[in-house]
Amino acid sequence: MIIKPYSASNYVLRLLELVDRLSPQHPLYSRISKDIGAIKAGDYGEEMVYRELEQVRLPYKNYIFHKVFLRAESTFELDYLVITPYGLVILEVKNIIGELEFSINPSQLIQRKEDGKMSKFPCPANQLNEYKYQLSQYLHHYNISVPIHGALIFASRNSFIRKSTNAVTVIYKNEIPSYLRNFSTINSTLSEDDMEQIKGILLKCPSPSTIPLINHFSIPFEDLKLGVKCESCSFIGMQKIIRTWYCPKCSKTNSYAHYKAISTYFSLCKETITNKECRDFLLLNNRNEAKRILSNSGLLKCGKSSATYYKQRFY
Ligand SMILES: [Zn+2]
Repeated sequence: MIIKPYSASNYVLRLLELVDRLSPQHPLYSRISKDIGAIKAGDYGEEMVYRELEQVRLPYKNYIFHKVFLRAESTFELDYLVITPYGLVILEVKNIIGELEFSINPSQLIQRKEDGKMSKFPCPANQLNEYKYQLSQYLHHYNISVPIHGALIFASRNSFIRKSTNAVTVIYKNEIPSYLRNFSTINSTLSEDDMEQIKGILLKCPSPSTIPLINHFSIPFEDLKLGVKCESCSFIGMQKIIRTWYCPKCSKTNSYAHYKAISTYFSLCKETITNKECRDFLLLNNRNEAKRILSNSGLLKCGKSSATYYKQRFY
């Protein structure tokens, strides 16, 4: 039974907003663009696995969660977690194509693509074992001690594992049903009440951090392209004219273009915004205009007179 369905990573959308506002010459531009590609590939793999999990019919009660974000000794995010009567099962998804080889001492995953290009990745088996440990620590806080299983799932039909590892279970996406079904051959350790209790705890888990991205990447505010973005041609720097925004590049107008710019500000710059910060980011030179925009953007007003600031409302 799916409790928390698949949803694409919101983080990618935020990274796209960030690269949009960096010059291609910026020292972090290519790294962030690369991250976006990797997360998109990861999302695609997770979606493929979700299609498999939606179909699976297991001979026991189960609760399936996509993206479980937890804080134990460190913060970590599980791609899928399944609560079963036989313990918890972590499914860590990898969408890496080509010939793959797990190596030890040092542990890493080596990829060889069709064109002969080689790449190295941190060992996903180590990552999965670390997640198992962290999850056990997390549950320990609730005085819960249950078996924790896990498998690395290779989601792409274009992955070929030439050399596997004994450190964890490694399977292809189409093996998920039989992998999960096999648990019914071992003794169950969780009662229905135990399963409900863990489900309740996981449903209360917080969302991943939404730290403004310029803090996360240590990018100075001045490095960002400032202004309101034109939805039609993507130009950043629309001009405020009476009752609307005008794009000097494509000549289109949009009365609501500032809403998106303010949401981008929260995503990239800071969790709060003052009148001055609004004028700086939207390239406005009129204090009253900024006040009008901030008051009409569905934000929460805090503080008084010159100390007024606004923040997003979370429902
Ligand atoms: Zn335009």
